[in-house]
Amino acid sequence: MSPGQSSADGPARDPHCLFCSIVEGEVPAQVVATSEHAIAFRDLNPQAPTHVLVIPRHHAATAAETAAAGGLDAVVSLAVQVAKDEELEQGYRMVFNTGPDAGQSVFHTHLHLLGGRQLAWPPG
Ligand code: AMP
Repeated sequence: MSPGQSSADGPARDPHCLFCSIVEGEVPAQVVATSEHAIAFRDLNPQAPTHVLVIPRHHAATAAETAAAGGLDAVVSLAVQVAKDEELEQGYRMVFNTGPDAGQSVFHTHLHLLGGRQLAWPPG
């Protein structure tokens, strides 16, 4: 199955999902890169000089669901491209908050790409 297509797992779009509305261009976002199956846009509340969200075009609630549908490679690949475009050669972090204990607040899979400053470890 192509990760950009509808599947038995659910429709490509959830009409109540904010990030699906960004994919459709119905909600404005500062898009920095796109590919066939993913798009990247700046986080509204940045936690680092570069804070970009990379999401699959196909709706899924969590990274685990996107992984099960074979769609994570497109997300990670676009994040790597954005890291190069943003010249983050000193390092960067990719984070999927997955589920309530991880603080996930938007239930459309998204990768946080953070960079441009020293990042603490462990995270909170
Ligand atoms: P999470 O807490 O991991 O689910 O991350 C959701 C992220 O989405 C947060 O960092 C928010 O700042 C970000 N966010 C929410 N709404 C928007 C929006 N309309 N455009 C860009 N980023 C958003």
